[in-house]
Amino acid sequence: MSVKEILGRFHEIAADPKAMKDKYLSEGREIVLVNYYTPEEIVHSMGAVPMGAWGADVKINEAKKYFPTFICSIVQSAVELGMKGEYAGAKAFIIPSLCDSLKVMGQNWKVAVPSIKFIPMTYPQNRKPEYGAQFTKAGYERVISELEELGLPRFSDEKLKASLSVYEEHNRVMNEVSELMASHPEISNQERSDVFKSAFFMLKEEHTALVKELINALKEQKPGTDKLKIMTSGIICDAPDILKILDENGLQIVCDDVCTETRQYRASYKEKATALDSLVSKFCDMDQDTLLYDADKTRIDYIVEKAKKTGAKGVLLLLTKFCDPEEFDAPMIRKACEKAGLSVNIIEIDRQMVNYEQARTSIETFRDLLNG
Ligand code: SF4
Repeated sequence: MSVKEILGRFHEIAADPKAMKDKYLSEGREIVLVNYYTPEEIVHSMGAVPMGAWGADVKINEAKKYFPTFICSIVQSAVELGMKGEYAGAKAFIIPSLCDSLKVMGQNWKVAVPSIKFIPMTYPQNRKPEYGAQFTKAGYERVISELEELGLPRFSDEKLKASLSVYEEHNRVMNEVSELMASHPEISNQERSDVFKSAFFMLKEEHTALVKELINALKEQKPGTDKLKIMTSGIICDAPDILKILDENGLQIVCDDVCTETRQYRASYKEKATALDSLVSKFCDMDQDTLLYDADKTRIDYIVEKAKKTGAKGVLLLLTKFCDPEEFDAPMIRKACEKAGLSVNIIEIDRQMVNYEQARTSIETFRDLLNG
């Protein structure tokens, strides 16, 4: 397949996750919903398909019964989709306790979508000390026992070890393709987003195979004309209208600090006595993340260094509306970037945006600043 054809396949998958869910169900596979940082390797090792549930750009009606208006739209839209039957057939939803909104989401999910079992994954605040690792492991063991109670095959550490290999390879190719796409300005921001987003709706071994095809095809393709390089940061960066405006203004995302993109692929597994302990080590080693306790706010330096290293001239902060963790970091990011000579643009986004004209004006000004 050509680069365009492979990117077209990623787009089909990213744009229609329900079709992927229905395909796996028709093949007799169980589906378990996941988001943020859940131990999806455990789900994979128990023979089910972990499928991302990050909400979608939909009008929120039913979910309003369960939430005040000042809860982020990722949480609200995921519950809305659940109530509307979009996730029908899924066995369970593992929801992590990583922010106040996610904690509330799990409790509301139990009542709003009783057909899909809520499985909590409670993470420790202090994940680095040994007691943090033990707490995380106990959380994973609880997830395992709840999945077994639902009828999934019994957990085996040997099978988890095999799944960790699959995920390790996926991590590797995602980091490789991320770098490679940065050197190919002819790839649109929408196409880049599709490569990341589709990873949540496919078995990782299948996604890895398609990413490898893209890597091989890209290596054969002559890079297009240079564009203005930028870095993105935030929880999500998949709104087609925002990506289109960036493309229209000649801005190319060359690296990111986005939760649904490369933040997923920064840490790897340490060699430990059991595969479950290796999985725990990955979570404990994760850093530079809004959602993970970090007294020194190392995320801020990470953004500056990453932008500098990749030649990004500015940082576009896509601030999810009502996301407290991200809002707390925003002033520090702005200050550090400006001190380092990087332009910063902050755009508030949510899953219910219909009018992007204000964002367009802001991005046009950002482009002019970068050009200046
Ligand atoms: S967008 Fe922010 S508030 Fe909402 S679930 Fe994610 S981290 Fe929590």
